[in-house]
Amino acid sequence: MSKLALWSRRRFLKASTLSVPVAVGLTGTPGFSAPFEGSAAADLQKRIVGTVVVKDDEHYETWRQAMIWQRAKADRRPDMIVQVERIEDVQEAVRFAAAGRMKVTTRCGGHSMAACFLRNGGMLIDVSRLDGIVVDKAAKQAVVGPGVFCRGLAERLAQDDLAFPGAHCGTVPISGFLLGGGVGLNTNAWSHGMSVFAVKALDIVTADGRLLRASESENAGLFWAARGGGPGLFGVVVRFHLQCFDAPKVIWGATYTFAFTELDEVTRVMDKVVPQLDSDVEVLISIAALPDVAEDAPVEQRQRIYLDANAFAVSEAEGRRKLALLQRDPLIPRALDRVENRAGSFDRYYSENEAAFPQGYWMGDSIWTDRPMEAIAILKRHIPDCPAPRGTPLLLYMGTNTLPDAACSRIGRFYLAYYLEWDEPNQELPSRAYCRKVFKELKVVAKGSYINEMDQEGRPEDIHDCYSPQAWARLAKLRRQWDPLGVFHGFYGQS
Ligand SMILES: Cc1cc2nc3c(=O)[nH]c(=O)nc-3n(C[C@H](O)[C@H](O)[C@H](O)COP(=O)(O)OP(=O)(O)OC[C@H]3O[C@@H](n4cnc5c(N)ncnc54)[C@H](O)[C@@H]3O)c2cc1C
Repeated sequence: MSKLALWSRRRFLKASTLSVPVAVGLTGTPGFSAPFEGSAAADLQKRIVGTVVVKDDEHYETWRQAMIWQRAKADRRPDMIVQVERIEDVQEAVRFAAAGRMKVTTRCGGHSMAACFLRNGGMLIDVSRLDGIVVDKAAKQAVVGPGVFCRGLAERLAQDDLAFPGAHCGTVPISGFLLGGGVGLNTNAWSHGMSVFAVKALDIVTADGRLLRASESENAGLFWAARGGGPGLFGVVVRFHLQCFDAPKVIWGATYTFAFTELDEVTRVMDKVVPQLDSDVEVLISIAALPDVAEDAPVEQRQRIYLDANAFAVSEAEGRRKLALLQRDPLIPRALDRVENRAGSFDRYYSENEAAFPQGYWMGDSIWTDRPMEAIAILKRHIPDCPAPRGTPLLLYMGTNTLPDAACSRIGRFYLAYYLEWDEPNQELPSRAYCRKVFKELKVVAKGSYINEMDQEGRPEDIHDCYSPQAWARLAKLRRQWDPLGVFHGFYGQS
């Protein structure tokens, strides 16, 4: 094993958060090879503290697969993976790519279910190890590396009685989550419905390798694009400057389980009752199969509906008051099961949610909608035919937020996502085909999709629908301005 290959392996073992078995042992000449001049890539390795892995490295496939969070490993192969350890590494890597006319993409947690960061050819920059956190308690601000996980951020901020609207699952890093918009915890109350609006500035490496600050007052166009541009961004974000909030004293919660036959009624409550609650009450419904019921059992026996409400409150008494209107609804006594008066915290929330997202084979898709009853009626027809063993639709009330001016420009009163999880590779194709069929029908009631959780692989022609027409056009214009040579890949499947 060459020194470079050995080094690559050590770094990988240090870096990988995956327990997924990967195909190790591809043979080939260790080190660098075509399409690079070996000496050029080796030179990049000498200039950075991080790790350079090229296609012919014997551990390339291990690295490539480890870039993807889940078990379904998209079959796309960058020529080079550069895992950075320092911001200077990012600058070196981007300059190297620009000089060699290599296309660049960035990945952080690799949670994109479409693995939109993984492209054939070019360079993949992995920023997951930029994971510092500096908190200014008095100013209620934090400067955070892209690789910080939402749980880690919540834990650190809690030490200073602060909080941030991180993702609902603590294993998601803030990076891709924020850049695509961020449907975060309590974000209706804290951040106009999308967590990226609590980003006050970003430090970003641009296509020419410069490190720039972007905010409302500095490089405002870049700032506009980074707040929602997500997988279409033309730069690598290396630091986020976050506005934080006073931590709630308690997340006061309740969960009600209903029979599938109550789906219309539960959706009515979401549509009519939930909008009357305070904006810091987060309510979502999810539909999931009981684990111990046969897959071919009638849908009414197999599926249950879970209505979950959480009030971000200053006291238990306030939490009780905030949930009271919901709990007085005549639907509530019809619950098959209930958990009430739950005094929760970010820690507890994350512990419960992480268990629901094991690293299996996944795909997902989503829409924004103002018409939940019709959207759920469409889903209801399709749920019995879901070929994936676990298909979980989720409907979250988003409020009536108006978004500030930024690339993140589409939102609806409701967020509807559908996650499919399967166990065997041969379940992948039918699951993907089913999901595409369902979302083709849902388009009638959609106001667009959420870039971070849409099926970018399955319906790339709809990616523009994640943005308003004006925002889509402005993103393209800013790309021409900031990346005239086209160093960075654009959105998946777009020219
Ligand atoms: C288990 C699970 C739970 C989730 N929960 C939520 C949730 O509660 N709310 C929500 O909104 N979303 C959620 N998501 C979706 C999540 O927001 C996206 O998958 C997001 O892309 C994850 O961030 P990442 O850093 O892993 O991105 P990656 O998958 O690594 O990258 C996605 C894209 O983001 C861009 N990107 C990432 N980092 C950078 C950077 N530093 N600079 C430039 N571009 C960058 C790249 O272009 C890349 O193509 C969840 C996903 C999973 C798998």
